[in-house]
Amino acid sequence: MSETQKRILTGDRTTGKLHLGHYVGSLQNRVALQYDYDTFILLADVQALTTHFEHPELIHGSILDVAIDNLSVGLDPERVTVFQQSQIKAIAEMTIFYSMLISVNTLRHNPTIKTEAANYGYSDLSYGFLGYPVSQAADITFCKAELVPVGEDQLPHMEVARKLVRRFNDQYKTSILVEPYAKLSETPRLPGLDGNAKMGKSLGNAIYLSDDADTVAKKVRSAVTDTNRISVKIPGNPDVCMVSKYHKVFNVDEHENICSMCKNAEIGCVACKKLLTEKLNNLMDPFREKRAYYEAHIDEVQDIINTGSRKANEIGNETVGQMREAMSILI
Ligand code: ATP
Ligand code: MG
Repeated sequence: MSETQKRILTGDRTTGKLHLGHYVGSLQNRVALQYDYDTFILLADVQALTTHFEHPELIHGSILDVAIDNLSVGLDPERVTVFQQSQIKAIAEMTIFYSMLISVNTLRHNPTIKTEAANYGYSDLSYGFLGYPVSQAADITFCKAELVPVGEDQLPHMEVARKLVRRFNDQYKTSILVEPYAKLSETPRLPGLDGNAKMGKSLGNAIYLSDDADTVAKKVRSAVTDTNRISVKIPGNPDVCMVSKYHKVFNVDEHENICSMCKNAEIGCVACKKLLTEKLNNLMDPFREKRAYYEAHIDEVQDIINTGSRKANEIGNETVGQMREAMSILI
């Protein structure tokens, strides 16, 4: 990392193992960005409580899993800072300070909060859930990250973070906080092989980064294809086939050719699924190799998290110290 590199903040909630949707949607991008940006990776165990407070053991158990998922796809611990949110007390303190600078109505009208609340079936939101964009603003700004790689659904939260920074700096006549920018990722949402519009861990349709080759083969075999194609001799319709959608993402070069073979009844679903399985396993084999190393060296993973958290703490304490000073709350 060089002094001139811009800082990026990204991360995952520790609510379970990560899957290919996470890989396509963010991890892949993270791996590419680590060479050009000073990358901070948040293991969001506190934010996980906003929806999973009844399952602290799952949250705790997922911390190492999510760290290993990140390391296994090629994030280099010599380059990136991996840290555990709950260990950074400055984030909690900044969340309190920020919570004075935003109205309840602003949060209530946040479109992503509304959508997520509906998805979780929440009618009466907890204070913590309603306020998670505020805590997320603290996650981003404690380390003065300039850029946050996000999908479109996160844009309203980025607006909250930017407004909070501006309000704090204006109110206390300071410039200590850095306004972060969204780095919009254009990666599409990966659907489930079961036909669901999204691969999701709670949807039971995930191919986990930690799945072995046979498990991947089994999951691909169960994928939804063109249901009208009851025999290999009948031409297929790739537009309604999940396997085709996956070839498009994971087998870019051959996708078109496979589609035309399917339409001409020159390839059957079994062979087509085999090709996809091969592609996925080729992608995942290097991940498996790295994972095997880290799983055999759990102490090293814990060390990576501890070192990252120490570094994040130093930075966070400095930022919150500056905030206190600006607010004349000195200790
Ligand atoms: P759950 O089913 O419990 O909601 P999930 O599998 O959707 O879990 P999240 O932790 O909600 O995972 O997702 C975090 C982020 O990961 C999303 O904001 C998105 O950027 C990315 N992501 C998750 N699933 C996919 C997917 N299928 N395709 C692309 N990106 C995804
Ligand atoms: Mg989700």
